[in-house]
Amino acid sequence: MARLSPALKQATPVQVARGEGVHVFDLDGRRYLDFTAGIGVTSTGHCHPRVVAAAQEQVATLIHGQYTTVMHQPLVRLAERLGDVLPAGLDSVFFMNSGSEAVEASVRLARHATGRPLVVAFDGGFHGRTMGAAALTTSGAKIRAGIGPLMGGVAFAPFPYAFRYGWSEEETVAFCLRELDRLLVTAAPAADVAAFLIEPVLGEGGYVPTPPAFLAGLRERADAHGILLIADEVQTGFGRTGKFWGHQHADVTPDVLITAKGLASGFPLSGIAASEELMAKAWPGSQGGTYGGNAVACAAALATLDVIEGEGLVANAADQGLRLRDGLQKVAADHPGIADVRGLGLMVGNEFCTPDGAPDTAAANRAHAAAADKGLLLLTCGPHGNVVRMIPPLIVTAEQVDEAVAIWAEAVRA
Ligand code: PMP
Repeated sequence: MARLSPALKQATPVQVARGEGVHVFDLDGRRYLDFTAGIGVTSTGHCHPRVVAAAQEQVATLIHGQYTTVMHQPLVRLAERLGDVLPAGLDSVFFMNSGSEAVEASVRLARHATGRPLVVAFDGGFHGRTMGAAALTTSGAKIRAGIGPLMGGVAFAPFPYAFRYGWSEEETVAFCLRELDRLLVTAAPAADVAAFLIEPVLGEGGYVPTPPAFLAGLRERADAHGILLIADEVQTGFGRTGKFWGHQHADVTPDVLITAKGLASGFPLSGIAASEELMAKAWPGSQGGTYGGNAVACAAALATLDVIEGEGLVANAADQGLRLRDGLQKVAADHPGIADVRGLGLMVGNEFCTPDGAPDTAAANRAHAAAADKGLLLLTCGPHGNVVRMIPPLIVTAEQVDEAVAIWAEAVRA
């Protein structure tokens, strides 16, 4: 008998038997409110009937087509359909299985298209665990420590995490753009930079919305220097932030958009989108993989789009996100250990600090564990693990938000 590797670190001791909507049930039938959604994946809820039906039908028709060998209908239909939700001009798509692969595909494309070697990523960003994606990731030491050397050609610029700097958002943005300008004439000369890579909301790095003025500043510099702007929308896409894409909170369009997670309601599927003109600069055959654009995953993604549209889930994410933040702010008002509540849509973080402002990882862990004990599954994030984040399925109702806030209040008190 083999056992799972001890390298697997699990956030809760829960073993789930099944999931339905916003709930999962453990082996004894105990019900949990799942405010993790499989790290922001099961946005339509667990086992949404329309997603289940679409996947079941596809399984019985064609499981694996293999897109570098033959083309199949779910892939063609999904590409066409994504045209309805992608920003204007990003009319060419390519599919892979995971967020990390899509991040690497975007870097491959940017280097091919520009002939330049460098990518500028931002402090605290998370872009994945494969060696290339890990090279772009600074959300926490565990992703990078002891596995180097990682992919080269990466430079890091400060991310405008205003709460941590202790400045206003405006001051923080101005400082970070000045530092970026310095980087572009020092360690990462602008003429050598292929791309800026940024998350519209810093995810694993602490749930910090990227200020619109910062995204606008990146766009300006990208245009001035022939640099591509890549939005990593793996966690922020598909309605999560209360708009279809996270970058739509700013008046900025990226050159390349990366999607995964919420795209297929739990089936492994990711993609990149860019203009056809840009995508044509990728060398033919340079992108691919055995399982990319799997037929069942594509069918699930098509059903996911139907559900998001049919049930108004983007608007629901905006409404319930406001309700959730409002409730959490009231809890924080009674608990000075929760120093900041922030987020966009249903991507909300509670940052725990000691009275002198240092990250309080122990308090975050205690609250997280107490919530799980009381039937509310959550995750932590941030370089210090001191941010408790909430990412429920986008189908969450006002009653379920209120129930989660009530459990959270008890957990924090405990
Ligand atoms: N980018 C972002 C913004 C992510 O949040 C994640 C996963 N948390 C990834 C990339 C990597 O995705 P995957 O785990 O599917 O490789």
